[in-house]
Amino acid sequence: MKFIAEGDLGQLAKRLIMLGFDCSYDGGMSLIDLFQAAALEERILLTRKPLAETMKIKIFRVTADDPNQQLAELAGIYPLFERAEPFSRCLVCNVRLEELKYSAAAEQEKDKRDGPEVPESVIERGLPLCYCPKCRRIYWHGSHIERMKTQLAKAGFEIRIEH
Ligand SMILES: [Zn+2]
Repeated sequence: MKFIAEGDLGQLAKRLIMLGFDCSYDGGMSLIDLFQAAALEERILLTRKPLAETMKIKIFRVTADDPNQQLAELAGIYPLFERAEPFSRCLVCNVRLEELKYSAAAEQEKDKRDGPEVPESVIERGLPLCYCPKCRRIYWHGSHIERMKTQLAKAGFEIRIEH
């Protein structure tokens, strides 16, 4: 179950990626490009336009204006609740995150791995980390995840994270 979102559905795309779904989004893509990518990569096209489905492309038409309601609309048709893997993708690249193995002692002695720099506050708390293999951003279960959980809760998703 993969998606591609048209230009004005960026907030919906972001929420899908937060939930761990593969959702391709590039605000500048033309409708023809979107169709081609959807067909080639077998993605469900998310659009606000009343487009007819073709033999090759599945289309989901979004009607709500609010991105949380848009997500709820989509969850009414596709099994998003059942298949969500929250916070498993990079919000920028839509790439699956990998576990970042690091030792606090080595980080503090500036004996860096070949990888992204880990913020000191995170090292001190010994939090589990993930990183994006494409842009090398680091993700951890900090305040930004709490904010995302609040957003997703508004769309009806109750997220629990087990450490
Ligand atoms: Zn990334």
